[in-house]
Amino acid sequence: MSRSAHPAGPRHADVLTEGHYTAPAADLNVLDEKVWSRTVSRDADGALTVGGIGVARLAEEFGTPAYFLDESDFRARCRAWADAFGPGADVFYAGKAFLSRAVVRWLKEEGLNLDVCSGGELATALDAGMPAERIAFHGNNKTVAEIERAVEAGVGRIVLDSFQEIVRVAHIAQQRGVRQRVQIRVTVGVEAHTHEFIATAHEDQKFGIALAGGQAAEAVRRALTLDGLELIGIHSHIGSQIFDMAGFEVSARRVVQLLAEVRDEHGVELPEIDLGGGLGIAYTSEDDPREPHEIAKALSDIVTRECEAANLNTPRISVEPGRAIVGPTAFTLYEVGTIKPLEGLRTYVSVDGGMSDNIRTALYDAEYSVALVSRTSDAEPMLVRVVGKHCESGDIVVKDAFLPADLAPGDLIAVPATGAYCRSMASNYNHALRPPVVAVRDGGARVIVRRETEEDLLRLDVG
Ligand SMILES: *Cc1c(COP(=O)(O)O)cnc(C)c1O
Repeated sequence: MSRSAHPAGPRHADVLTEGHYTAPAADLNVLDEKVWSRTVSRDADGALTVGGIGVARLAEEFGTPAYFLDESDFRARCRAWADAFGPGADVFYAGKAFLSRAVVRWLKEEGLNLDVCSGGELATALDAGMPAERIAFHGNNKTVAEIERAVEAGVGRIVLDSFQEIVRVAHIAQQRGVRQRVQIRVTVGVEAHTHEFIATAHEDQKFGIALAGGQAAEAVRRALTLDGLELIGIHSHIGSQIFDMAGFEVSARRVVQLLAEVRDEHGVELPEIDLGGGLGIAYTSEDDPREPHEIAKALSDIVTRECEAANLNTPRISVEPGRAIVGPTAFTLYEVGTIKPLEGLRTYVSVDGGMSDNIRTALYDAEYSVALVSRTSDAEPMLVRVVGKHCESGDIVVKDAFLPADLAPGDLIAVPATGAYCRSMASNYNHALRPPVVAVRDGGARVIVRRETEEDLLRLDVG
């Protein structure tokens, strides 16, 4: 994530010891197209519109806080990924970023596959008609019931994450007289973060089987002997919000090395490799994500080169973008409630949501941008911290940003790039009602996940 000090600094820049806030755009009224979904613009009155509908109307009809998802942008991103990788590769959308029945239908229509990592995600995928063979099932501790359901549904692949699971899946498949297609998830000893990657000690995590020490080779050995399994390949996922292809380079090289070892030991060329997801998006103007076609070309060049060097046939590649598809397609709309200027520090702007609809800032210091969207303003920029209404001082949505100094209660502000890991990680903290997701397209808006109600909360409370 981008971290930069504002060179000129606002009046009290010296108190910002953490030093990571984004410089104000030359004009706060300009919406940087990098961080907003494709159909967002300002109308003649200066209000933000998405899919041709103004935010005032959206707020009136659907309330705030709410997530507005630009459906044509979502579909365009799906197509861009599918086209970039072409028919010789597979794109799996990582459902954990955001999943609903409407999303499953869009994915199905746009030709993508789907990753799920729980019984609930699998149920949503199947209910909305995703063909089971286009579903991959992930997770480091799938329950027996989840594995049974996945095998019975006929999912296209289960990604095996541990030695116990190799045996569990094999047993469940064998009992049902099927051979389950599986991949083995390996940890390659690389963990990629934002702009750099670190190549030490990243076997020290809960996911996957280490390549180091021959663990992964042993997992392959076991999987190949079990009748219930058809081992189709090796899986590696190295991190999230990655901009630099160097981590994928190392990861692909190590996975291909394993394929070569497997060929030498067993005389089998595994036909597929999955390089995972984690591709970065622009949360602020300083992030520069790559286009899908550049990513596709880079990955396919790396794999082709490594396979030639190892004298292997090039395997079929799959990738699993979640954030890179849905992240940029939605924004969260909030109403400003209270404003507290702290002389010499910053201004706290409280909105009607918070950590219950966006936990990422509190959870891992994620950076976001924010804009006044119900109108434009010629007022000076003021340094703000956008906070929620929860009983936690860490309830921060946007840590450091600039909004016009004439901001007032009742104004609508929006945080872009909240399509991924916001609604899907939303909570009921303080008995907050989780916001709706509204799909907007071509002048029409419809709720795809409705707002929770107090009745929903009370229905679960059976005491
Ligand atoms: C989370 C995850 C993804 C998606 O990550 P993004 O950052 O959303 O692209 C893909 N594959 C696996 C195995 C994951 O755990």
